[in-house]
Amino acid sequence: MSPPERISIEDARRAVLEHATCLEAEEVALEDALQRVLAEDAVAPDDLPPFASSGMDGFAVLAADTREPPASLRVIGEARAGALADAAVEPGTAIRVSTGAQMPAGADAVVRQEITEGGDDEVVVLEAVAPGNDVRYAGEDVPAGETILQAGTVLGAAEIGGLAAVNIARPAVVRRPRVALVSTGDELVEPGRELRPGEIRDANGPALTAAVQTAGAEVVASLRVGDDRAATIQTLEQAMRGVDLVATIGGVSVGPHDHIRPALESLGARQVFCRVALKPGGQVCFYIAADGTLVFALPGNPASALTAFRVLVVPALYGLLGRSQHLHTARGVAAVDLPGTIGRTSVIRCSAEMHDDGWHVTPNGDQRSHILTSMLGLPALALVPDDREVLRAGEAVDIQFVS
Ligand code: AMP
Ligand code: MG
Repeated sequence: MSPPERISIEDARRAVLEHATCLEAEEVALEDALQRVLAEDAVAPDDLPPFASSGMDGFAVLAADTREPPASLRVIGEARAGALADAAVEPGTAIRVSTGAQMPAGADAVVRQEITEGGDDEVVVLEAVAPGNDVRYAGEDVPAGETILQAGTVLGAAEIGGLAAVNIARPAVVRRPRVALVSTGDELVEPGRELRPGEIRDANGPALTAAVQTAGAEVVASLRVGDDRAATIQTLEQAMRGVDLVATIGGVSVGPHDHIRPALESLGARQVFCRVALKPGGQVCFYIAADGTLVFALPGNPASALTAFRVLVVPALYGLLGRSQHLHTARGVAAVDLPGTIGRTSVIRCSAEMHDDGWHVTPNGDQRSHILTSMLGLPALALVPDDREVLRAGEAVDIQFVS
């Protein structure tokens, strides 16, 4: 099989997104909603805050009564958070309030404790306040009927708090994509076992499991198969069952022991693209299985597998999740010369340091595709365009932060 033409990263991503349509929704409890993706707009059924309240500990008053300080007012009651006053403020009177207490009837302002004296039966207000002073109004955060969060939002701590505040106790979130991983290679053994001559440990299986989980999906099958055509076909068939996406690792080249592509084709999968103008990870292929499952065939070298995963599989998973937040990118500055390759976008594993003019990126050691350590603790990938043999120190460069 001759190697087909490489397509650009942008074209590859577009093709992937065309096939990665949003999965169905399910309801979850708020305590299970972290990092899930909202499936529909969250609309506040009521005002938030639900009522006008005091923003300070102090006294609810009529602002007009404070016009000529010091002003002495009779204290006729108390309102606390969760406990209403049993009287209404009238001219010449005040009601003691705590932060969060519902505004007593009649009052139009709050004077902070700090600008008063006394306060048992009588309070002396030392400064004039305007109507509305230190009052928090109903609906000023979100009015009833307004969208508080849009479909596609990833739920973090603040978003979950917002849903709780507007009484959305079981938000509809997109089902997690179900993913199967298939590591190929006669040389691979599970971590934890002794190596026999010629063997290496399967580093990509665990790495990609973590990458799938980081993207908000779940690995439902993690399989390993040797370099054998029949076994590869059988394992792929098993992997595709009941999942949304399959990622295979290794065996995607054109050598006599690379069985992934012929195996996929014999199973009726349709190739969308094979080989992308990307380095490392360019040897990635994308297929649609007969039943519609998305299949990514990733190259085996660890940096290649993880780079292709980040550049193409993560967008696919985000597409399945209907996730609106995309990759965390920025414009940075090359701290030193960055190596490029004509015809391929080079993804350089970098460390990043914040300077006055933005992030400065420096390659994190050996960039060859079998080198694992240059990927460790990585804050950023720098993308050197495909028309540059070298990107000079001081030049601007696109960077992608790694999560
Ligand atoms: P392949 O793409 O199968 O030709 O593999 C390319 C290189 O990556 C070979 O040196 C493999 O031994 C290595 N490799 C393949 N799969 C894995 C894996 N799961 N973990 C670590 N290295 C791998
Ligand atoms: Mg192999």
